Amino acid sequence: IFSDVESAPPIEVFQMSKLYNESTNPNKVNLGVGAYRTDEGKPWVLPVVSTAELQMANDRTLNHEYLPVAGLPDFRTAALRVLFGSDHKVITENRVEGFQALGGTGALRLAAEFLKKVLKFDIVYVSSPTWGNHKGVFKTAGFSEIKEYRYWDSETRGLNLAGMCEDLRAAPPKSMVILHAVAHNPTGVDATKEQWAEIAKVCQEKQIFVLLDCAYQGFASGSLDEDAWACRFFANQDIDLFVAQSFSKNFGLYNERIGNLAVVTKDPKKLPEIRSQMEITIRVMWSNPPNHGARIVATVLNNKAYFEDWKGQIMTMSSRIKKMRHELADNLKRLGTPGNWDHIVKQIGMFSFTGLSPKQVEYMLSKHVFMLSSGRISIAGLTPKNVQYVAKCMDEAVRA
Ligand code: PMP
Repeated sequence: IFSDVESAPPIEVFQMSKLYNESTNPNKVNLGVGAYRTDEGKPWVLPVVSTAELQMANDRTLNHEYLPVAGLPDFRTAALRVLFGSDHKVITENRVEGFQALGGTGALRLAAEFLKKVLKFDIVYVSSPTWGNHKGVFKTAGFSEIKEYRYWDSETRGLNLAGMCEDLRAAPPKSMVILHAVAHNPTGVDATKEQWAEIAKVCQEKQIFVLLDCAYQGFASGSLDEDAWACRFFANQDIDLFVAQSFSKNFGLYNERIGNLAVVTKDPKKLPEIRSQMEITIRVMWSNPPNHGARIVATVLNNKAYFEDWKGQIMTMSSRIKKMRHELADNLKRLGTPGNWDHIVKQIGMFSFTGLSPKQVEYMLSKHVFMLSSGRISIAGLTPKNVQYVAKCMDEAVRA
């Protein structure tokens, strides 16, 4: 029965991790996967996560019963508060509800299912370029048209706002768009507040439904509030809106698959119907979500002292990444590497879109520096020990 099954193409980012793990080269560096690393190049369990886990392990009132279909209530409300701020009008006016999902990916998948099956959307716009999984998730949910809007301007290594707005203005009726809320993956280029206002205006004029993908709250500026600016701004416009939230990065809970889909509605009277449709959509996908990650996040967000600890630990991560951006750019400057590398410092979040060509990336791989063929590197994979080597390889790649 399986004789006609052919191999699917490898998933590039996991392929890079595999090559990295298999490499015996002492200089090997993994700049593929978007996961935080310490100065020693090690994964980091946030101390506040360990504290919450210990507390959970000692709490004999907890059990392993099924969670409600929509998720752990304490988690869902706390996630919304961190996203919008507790006094945001969508919260005080009861116009938002969260649905626990399997990471940010699960939140996107749930959104896509609901948009296709319940709201009958068929056309989605994604940025060019975008995170590799956006297209796959929406295609799998049955969207017939996955269209791209211009985003990255390779000349300026910045945002092509005019191109983006022009493409969105040309969107057919009943289109929806995925906007990266903060720390755009893969380019590291975000809209300014003024540019966001222009983007929102186009979406409103053309009645494009907006899904904000918020996978890096806290990772861009180090401030949860600042990084939620675009989400809060859109929610302020009195529109219907989805936000897919991920706690993989800002809690370092990559393998716990903890995310939340925030549904903002103009009309709070519709929330019971929305909730029932969401629940039935969840029921056939994962039935009910896992507990562990949700309980950790809820424990931290609902305890003032832990919440403060968490904010400090987010700052530790975002500051280290910023420091490594500077070190990489400084090393390239020191080497006199041809070209301008200021964008490495200017770009935001976990990634840098280096501008290296596929051929130059091939050279990097031959030196056991693993990165994506698009030229994207995860800055979190740089350490004081490997940054010089990475810069040297980049220098050689550019000159080759
Ligand atoms: N959206 C974007 C833009 C991302 O970069 C990622 C993670 N790489 C996700 C969503 C999914 O996050 P998660 O790991 O929580 O599924």
